Amino acid sequence: MDNIEKKIALVTGASRGIGRACAIALGKKGYFVIVNYNSNEEAAVEVKSIIESNGSEADIYKANVSVLDEVKLMFREITKKYGKIDVLVNNAGIVKDEYVLMMTPDTIDKCLDLNIKGYMYCSQQAALKMFSKKKGCIINVSSVSSKLAVAGQSVYSATKGAVNSMTATMAKELAPYGIRVNAVAPGFIATDMVDKLPEEKKSEYLDTIPLKRFGTPEEVGEVVAMLASDEAAYITGQVLVIDGGLSL
Ligand code: NAP
Repeated sequence: MDNIEKKIALVTGASRGIGRACAIALGKKGYFVIVNYNSNEEAAVEVKSIIESNGSEADIYKANVSVLDEVKLMFREITKKYGKIDVLVNNAGIVKDEYVLMMTPDTIDKCLDLNIKGYMYCSQQAALKMFSKKKGCIINVSSVSSKLAVAGQSVYSATKGAVNSMTATMAKELAPYGIRVNAVAPGFIATDMVDKLPEEKKSEYLDTIPLKRFGTPEEVGEVVAMLASDEAAYITGQVLVIDGGLSL
């Protein structure tokens, strides 16, 4: 039995950046949003307050989604408390730029653990909860780096390429259970991740974007909320690029 009438959406890495914007956008659409975070509780609480001030409901949940036991516990506790999970947004990810000649095992492990294993762990747990209801939606935050060769990003882009592949494969496997799986592939979005870039790199990148600006997290959040909605009921297995024309 469901403990709550509203649809439940879990957004991983929702305390900051794109995840935060997805959580707020889903809240505005009436979802009860679970704001997952790794360390920044204050930021997660702020996201919960914003969602509530917009008239919906939210909860926060601390879990490192690259650790299987933490993921299992999170899904167990969410479904115990709320009875279901309708939407999962796999967003928590890291970028670590390193040229192949200097690439370290630590970078490889950290990127693979969070950007691939984390998405797989959460998707499996969500699908296990969704399939008995024959309805659900998983949205993976990939990156335009999965489609473009960006020097220094061989590890990161490999993980995002894997996200695109798992999106298509899981979409096919889960379609018979009414579960849709899609991805968004943002270009440069103004978050902490992009803020950390040196100024000369930022203006170099800006020159390559046809729309001549970085995207906003809100512009990604709105597309994610659309993909979660019934308006997108016939869309599955797709990777939607949100990059101001960068990849053209
Ligand atoms: P961000 O600003 O660095 O925020 C990262 C978020 O992930 C934070 O909420 C952080 O939580 C959380 N997080 C980090 N490690 C975690 C873990 N192990 N378990 C759970 N949560 C964790 O990142 P962003 O720029 O918004 O990027 C979000 C996603 O978009 C990533 O998958 C990234 O690859 C993708 N993306 C970003 C861009 C871009 O231009 N920004 C472009 C393309 C794709 P705490 O606050 O608790 O640390």
